[in-house]
Amino acid sequence: MDFALSDEDRMLKDLVGRFVREELLPLERIVLEREAVGQGTSLTAEERAPIDRKARELGLWALDAPEEFGGANLPFVSLVGVYEELAKTVVPMILGPDSPNLRMLMLTVSDQQREKYLAPYSRGETLCAMAISEPGAGGDPAAMTTRAEKRGDDWILNGRKIWISKAAEADFTILMAVTDKSKGARGGISAFLIDKGTPGFNVLRKIQMLAGMFTYEVALEDCRLAGSQLLGKEGDGFGPMQVRLSTRRLEMACNCIGMAQRALDMMCEFAPQRVTFGAPLSERQAIQWWVADAATKIHACRLMAYDLASKLDKGRDARVELSMVKVFATEMAWEILDHAMQTFGAMGMTKEVPLQLMASLVRNMRVYEGPSEVHRWVIARKLLRLR
Ligand SMILES: Cc1cc2nc3c(=O)[nH]c(=O)nc-3n(C[C@H](O)[C@H](O)[C@H](O)COP(=O)(O)OP(=O)(O)OC[C@H]3O[C@@H](n4cnc5c(N)ncnc54)[C@H](O)[C@@H]3O)c2cc1C
Repeated sequence: MDFALSDEDRMLKDLVGRFVREELLPLERIVLEREAVGQGTSLTAEERAPIDRKARELGLWALDAPEEFGGANLPFVSLVGVYEELAKTVVPMILGPDSPNLRMLMLTVSDQQREKYLAPYSRGETLCAMAISEPGAGGDPAAMTTRAEKRGDDWILNGRKIWISKAAEADFTILMAVTDKSKGARGGISAFLIDKGTPGFNVLRKIQMLAGMFTYEVALEDCRLAGSQLLGKEGDGFGPMQVRLSTRRLEMACNCIGMAQRALDMMCEFAPQRVTFGAPLSERQAIQWWVADAATKIHACRLMAYDLASKLDKGRDARVELSMVKVFATEMAWEILDHAMQTFGAMGMTKEVPLQLMASLVRNMRVYEGPSEVHRWVIARKLLRLR
């Protein structure tokens, strides 16, 4: 067993780290100020354009997109370090296209959809939202009730979705709906592609979430889709959706490692400088233990992430590891960020340093892509051989 990164993966991680320091960190103060007044964390088109251009120049674009669309087709193992480095700042950055939806599309598109959706998405030219959650079905998506009924060659969709990120901005949304109620998640749920502006796809409201994030509530009211908008096979939406969720969970775990590492770095820089009661904080055992525990847990979590990425690359069943790493990473980052905020005293309670925003990002992560309790349940069910 060799735990060393390949030279290529090490260089890629270093390059992204440099990109974050040189291109993104200078914008962090603007993002913090924007979020502090309730305006979210998104960059303006003018701020984003030069950054995206730079990322493309450096070859940091479409890293896991298919080669036929100009992508580098990199495996998950190569992306662990990329996702980690990108999360060391609160300046939001996706080196397009967003991997989870990309992976789902790659598994499911027809030839026609390949040209219309996958090709431009792979080139990072379009935005895609994912609509699974409903008012009565979140952590348990199999309980969804949004229906898609066949009318001739078309589909008519009715129902409601909630907490959908990017629903108003996305060029298209991948939406999950029930096509055969009797079969439920085992053959009864299908995926559809809905273009922005499709009649009956009605964005009802924008919901302000923690960490300057926004989601939307969407009503599907006799939303008519051509048969060609079915994504993948009828009734076979759940499997590809799980692939998408797996990708996001790995990405989130790596993001947590990045945020925790930034918090640890900030603690290590601040603690020797801050003197209380005649001694620097770095000489206090309380702070030393936070630092030592943080470094230990980050190391453990990084190994978990690489192990998971390697299993996913080999196509192994890694459902339990996915749940383990999602829970471990989010709770680890939450704890380390809390200790860093405490070390910084009142400064840690301000919106001038990124710690609180990172903590809010992680707080969200303990709920979306499956709440921690549901993931613990998945792990325990496997161990206890429960259904
Ligand atoms: C910032 C953000 C962005 C999101 N973006 C999207 C998106 O783009 N698309 C999308 O489809 N959805 C999105 N979601 C929704 C997200 O996936 C759901 O919120 C999540 O799956 C949990 O569903 P729920 O909120 O209905 O909670 P519920 O399923 O009602 O669960 C509530 C709580 O009950 C407990 N619980 C539930 N089940 C169990 C169990 N079996 N055992 C023990 N405890 C349990 C947990 O503590 C859980 O937190 C987003 C959510 C957030 C916060």
